[in-house]
Amino acid sequence: MPAAMHEVAHPIAPSVLRGLAGHCPACGKGRLFWKYLKVNGRCEACDQDLARYPADDGPAYVTILLMGHLVVAPLLLFPIVWRANPAYSLPIILTALAVATLAALPRIKGGWVGLMYALGVKDSDAHLHTADAAD
Ligand SMILES: [Zn+2]
Repeated sequence: MPAAMHEVAHPIAPSVLRGLAGHCPACGKGRLFWKYLKVNGRCEACDQDLARYPADDGPAYVTILLMGHLVVAPLLLFPIVWRANPAYSLPIILTALAVATLAALPRIKGGWVGLMYALGVKDSDAHLHTADAAD
């Protein structure tokens, strides 16, 4: 294992926070996304190569984890959820959950890209992933 793998490339907290805000994790000024979940190839402010930081399924897993634990599980503690007619409550709950999930996903992906930037993980490091050895 190279010694550099133990080192953090950039400060984690500012990088993740900039990403969560939808900004470039390097400078915090340029926009991270050019579409809903499409990461800009390069930062318009500092020219940082943003496309090389892998997100893959990570943001989706984190979004599901957070929505399940912070929204769905606490929601089940309210008796009105169990007493209400599902014909009325399910569409309302599922619509609100879908909106909340779609609102959280780009922010979480931004934070994820910020974390990858801070840790120095790039697409070119894919050969280091042990799971890829089976491919
Ligand atoms: Zn930038």
